Amino acid sequence: MQFRALKGMNDLLPGETERWQRLEAAFRRTMELHGYGEVRTPVLEPLELFVRSTGETSEIVEKQMFELERGGERLALRPEGTPGAARAFIGANQHAREPVTRWYYIGPMFRAEQPQRGRYRQFHQAGCELYGDAGPIVDAEMIGMLVEFLSGLGLEKLDVAVNSLGGPTTRTRYREALLAYLEPRSSQLSEHAQRRLRDNPLRILDSKDPRDRAVVADAPSILDVLEGDDRAHFEGLCRALEALGIPYRVDPGLVRGLDYYTRTLFEIQSTQGELGSQNTLVGGGRYDGMLKSLGGPDLPAIGFALGIERLLLALGDTQVPRPRRCFIAPVGERAMLEGLTLARDLRRSGVIVELDARGGSLKSLLRRASNLGSTICLVLGDAELDRGVVQVKELERHTQADVPRDQVVEHVRAALENGAER
Ligand code: AMP
Repeated sequence: MQFRALKGMNDLLPGETERWQRLEAAFRRTMELHGYGEVRTPVLEPLELFVRSTGETSEIVEKQMFELERGGERLALRPEGTPGAARAFIGANQHAREPVTRWYYIGPMFRAEQPQRGRYRQFHQAGCELYGDAGPIVDAEMIGMLVEFLSGLGLEKLDVAVNSLGGPTTRTRYREALLAYLEPRSSQLSEHAQRRLRDNPLRILDSKDPRDRAVVADAPSILDVLEGDDRAHFEGLCRALEALGIPYRVDPGLVRGLDYYTRTLFEIQSTQGELGSQNTLVGGGRYDGMLKSLGGPDLPAIGFALGIERLLLALGDTQVPRPRRCFIAPVGERAMLEGLTLARDLRRSGVIVELDARGGSLKSLLRRASNLGSTICLVLGDAELDRGVVQVKELERHTQADVPRDQVVEHVRAALENGAER
């Protein structure tokens, strides 16, 4: 019997992981530049944590959680990073140490979705959380950081959408205004939206169903009911984005799927590369009430999550330069041991080496060296051993030379460095 990876869960093999590592390194650099430290939390959490934070009526908690039971406890694989980080923040009593905390994370998330390009069941997010600053300057700073990061990677066509959901009072007022508009039109809505009317009408603004889209097109805008501090906060965000020179679009229909958001919401989309319809790269927003609702301090917070798979799709074939490497082709019994020690010596001086000790013919070894994209192939046979040399073939330059064994390491290093400059 042959096993396959689970639906929507992918293996990442060398070659592909190199692109990931480069991206993750760039992300870490950006985060550290902005004063964020990395937090690593478990992938498994109490199910109730997500019910209480992500929200009972959110799509994720309703339909997409990977759940399990162990020792009478209900657990879930994390569908997103924010609740676990909040739990850790509260558990560590972090707010007693610092008035403002900046954390980032990179890791796998799990949602039982229908897989398609850019949508998987195990996917990876890089994200951050900023606790203890009510904004809006830090909100704009965070959006600015993302725009710099993404454009630094070579993405040009970025669409930044922002909205405000206001605080609890605005939300209640808007909910009433929205219901007053939607209820008389409920027969024109999808069945799903009709159910939402009762538990979470704001989410109808998010619906992709054409029937809902048609009704929602003329719905009252939340920005019309934003008042007082909520309005000042949103205007502050817009002013700060303008000060940074970030092009953005106000989208009153932007609600996003999670229940905990307050005030600032944002999304960044890209039309570049192979993204297709799943073109939202980043989603984020404020969640000023969440820490308190989880039994923690009454502190404001804001964060975002960026989908790594989607970002790589957007970047498309942007080539990650592959480090230059050396292949060792030993022919015959005696040459194997020499190949083994030569590989060790080369690696000690920082050369990437692949040693093929399967005992194939010289022809098949050379073919393999070339298929692997090796820059240099070192051939070792009885003739070379007898003369105390190694045959150095530079595959890109089509040259070969016999080099004394005790000079090989230096020779290969120099050849790889010269090649890198070409
Ligand atoms: P969310 O946590 O739903 O706000 O999503 C934030 C970002 O994570 C999205 O903009 C995507 O880039 C990425 N993302 C969310 N769900 C998936 C998924 N099922 N597969 C791949 N990426 C995803």
